[in-house]
Amino acid sequence: MSHGTLYIVSAPSGAGKTSLVRGLIERLDGIQVSVSHTTRAMRPGETDGVNYHFVDGETFERMVECGDFFEHARVFDNCYGTSRPAVQALLAAGTDVILEIDWQGARQVREQMPDAVSVFILPPSREALAERLAGRGTDGPEVIARRMRDAVSEMSHFDEYQHVIINDDFDEALAQLCGLVLGERTRLARVRERHGALLEALLSRIEGVE
Ligand code: 5GP
Repeated sequence: MSHGTLYIVSAPSGAGKTSLVRGLIERLDGIQVSVSHTTRAMRPGETDGVNYHFVDGETFERMVECGDFFEHARVFDNCYGTSRPAVQALLAAGTDVILEIDWQGARQVREQMPDAVSVFILPPSREALAERLAGRGTDGPEVIARRMRDAVSEMSHFDEYQHVIINDDFDEALAQLCGLVLGERTRLARVRERHGALLEALLSRIEGVE
């Protein structure tokens, strides 16, 4: 039986998901982000094994066939997947795990683990999103328009999630995300799962007392 809680965090590119998740990890103990496998090329500033495990298409396919992925999906032009053994080991050790995955992966995870907690992060406006997508580099208007289309497509699934955070003020959005995790840790079912031994000890009969 797993003791850690599984969190699914999805967002369109440009909503600030990665920064929020990083902030959460820095603030709270006992929670880690799962490092996905992907076939996409490494971007400048990324490190293999830290941002992703970068693999070729053949390796990815082999992992799919071997059942190594808890979930996997083609997201726009590339394949992404979550390692099943890595996530299981963390959960079994009592660590909360965050999956930064798209809506297709989220559906697969919900089917296998209905008590996973899902969060969708939205940008504060269409304009803010456009600005963030354009501000990334020196890409042409076609590339930016494509990114916007992909973002809108991802956002259209926001209502499949239990929680929605609008990332207008970063600190407030981060507080909401931290609050969500802290609140989840106090739920009766989670406390029973994690602290069974403590509950038993606290409630054990006292000798000589009726
Ligand atoms: P990027 O390539 O910009 O890092 O990520 C593109 C999209 O792939 C994002 O929506 C991200 O959430 C999603 N993604 C990243 N890792 C995984 C994964 O392991 N599984 C799934 N289904 N989606 C992922």
